[in-house]
Amino acid sequence: MTQVISGGCACGGVRYEVNGTLRPIIACHCEQCRRTSGHFVAATACRRAYFSLTEQSGLRWYSAVPGYRRGFCEVCGSSLFFEETGKERISIAAGSLDAPQGLHIAAHIFTSEAGDYYAIDPQTPSSPMGEHSVALPD
Ligand SMILES: [Zn+2]
Ligand SMILES: [Zn+2]
Repeated sequence: MTQVISGGCACGGVRYEVNGTLRPIIACHCEQCRRTSGHFVAATACRRAYFSLTEQSGLRWYSAVPGYRRGFCEVCGSSLFFEETGKERISIAAGSLDAPQGLHIAAHIFTSEAGDYYAIDPQTPSSPMGEHSVALPD
């Protein structure tokens, strides 16, 4: 079943729609995610083909590692997207979704780089590096 899902940044300078199914959330505790979010990044994802920008006046991209880039709003500073160039997946910050989507955190990754001031749920699969078995829905 297909549903249109929407979201965006805090000021409205970036808005997007997803016309497809979202992946369960992956929480990334790597250093880049820690620094850019101020905590850790909880992101869903979808296939690129289902994703569209409806407002992008504030959108800027930053590449910390060649081949990967992070999308954010240059006006309000919201962290929004992450993608590997040329791949069919775009990751979307879960907190930027407009409405609850019934998603849950299915994996914690890069826990070896996590901050030392919070606990990671031991019931959820976790990996010290980037491996996980959470599939991208069709
Ligand atoms: Zn904004
Ligand atoms: Zn990360």
